[in-house]
Amino acid sequence: MASTDMNGVEISDSQAADIRDTDIVFDCPHCGSNLAIDYRGAGLQINCSQCNKSVLVPIPDGMQLTDLDLNPGDILKQLFATRRNFQKAELQIQNLKAKLVTMQEALGAMQAVVAEGLAI
Ligand SMILES: [Zn+2]
Repeated sequence: MASTDMNGVEISDSQAADIRDTDIVFDCPHCGSNLAIDYRGAGLQINCSQCNKSVLVPIPDGMQLTDLDLNPGDILKQLFATRRNFQKAELQIQNLKAKLVTMQEALGAMQAVVAEGLAI
């Protein structure tokens, strides 16, 4: 049996066959059910698949939270940074396009001069 919580993290009973090596297995503090969750759920608040109460997924020893994009604030920061970079890139593209137009105009003028020269 597996269900997906509002964070899109899959929760399953530890008895289920679909547990991966990377899953975090722990007991629900409310009902004692043995739960297994994808390692990306470490540190997340989830709902127990048995009693439906909110449970904080333990962070396994040795796992660095900074390795994971779990903090919604951090994800937002990354998203904004990505957007900023994207806007910068867009701006650069616009600048390059403007330069290209200028260069094409210059090339056109040069070609006209060359054509004139050849015609003489
Ligand atoms: Zn429970």
